[in-house]
Amino acid sequence: MPVLRVPGHPDKVGYERLGFGSKGPKRGDVKHSAEGWGTYLKFLVQSPLAIKSWHFSVLQDGTIWQHYPINVHCWHAGDTDDDDDVRANIELVGIEHEGLVGTPLTAEQTAATIEITKFCAEFFERTAAYDRFPVQPSDGWMLVEHNEVSNTYTACPSGRIHWEDVLAGLVTKGVADMALAFIKAPGDPAVYLTNGFTRRPMRGERVDLAKALNISDQVVNVSDELLASIDVVQQ
Ligand SMILES: [Zn+2]
Repeated sequence: MPVLRVPGHPDKVGYERLGFGSKGPKRGDVKHSAEGWGTYLKFLVQSPLAIKSWHFSVLQDGTIWQHYPINVHCWHAGDTDDDDDVRANIELVGIEHEGLVGTPLTAEQTAATIEITKFCAEFFERTAAYDRFPVQPSDGWMLVEHNEVSNTYTACPSGRIHWEDVLAGLVTKGVADMALAFIKAPGDPAVYLTNGFTRRPMRGERVDLAKALNISDQVVNVSDELLASIDVVQQ
């Protein structure tokens, strides 16, 4: 499945004022219903005026957009206090799913959200168990609906997540092919996705593959030869 980096607005992360800083390890993810389409999601995540941010968007064809490194504190779940023993925006990855109430995730979306969950759990070394909230496995990964943690009322994700399918996929599906789709950025844990290729930058360097390759984020594939022809971009 195509995986693209679509950066969100850089200022829409973190809770400095509450003392949580801008990033930290995660121990689960919140699955959302976007109640809209890809162009709307891209506008929202990039607009400085829309006071919300999330790590991934999953389009109906299974395309994954990553908007922020997975360790950043995004603003997606309406929860920073420790009610229910979790501070969702501090401790959980946020995943939006393109589409509207009344339409379950497509098979492609379900497969993609499973892959994101597995990748994140592996990254934070929490693969011992995958459990639905309110179960919070001590060395595993918890799977949460927005409405289960939000401090204000929301129906999100409005029954669109078929948890039996997601949990079944977490048990039976491998992620070996997915691992290639991720880039590990320099410094402390910070992960970006690109479209199926991995580069491991040297410390102090920053990767911007789309720019280096002179492609837009709409491009879903480049050849191995083209990728090999460029090196990490110094910025
Ligand atoms: Zn939501």
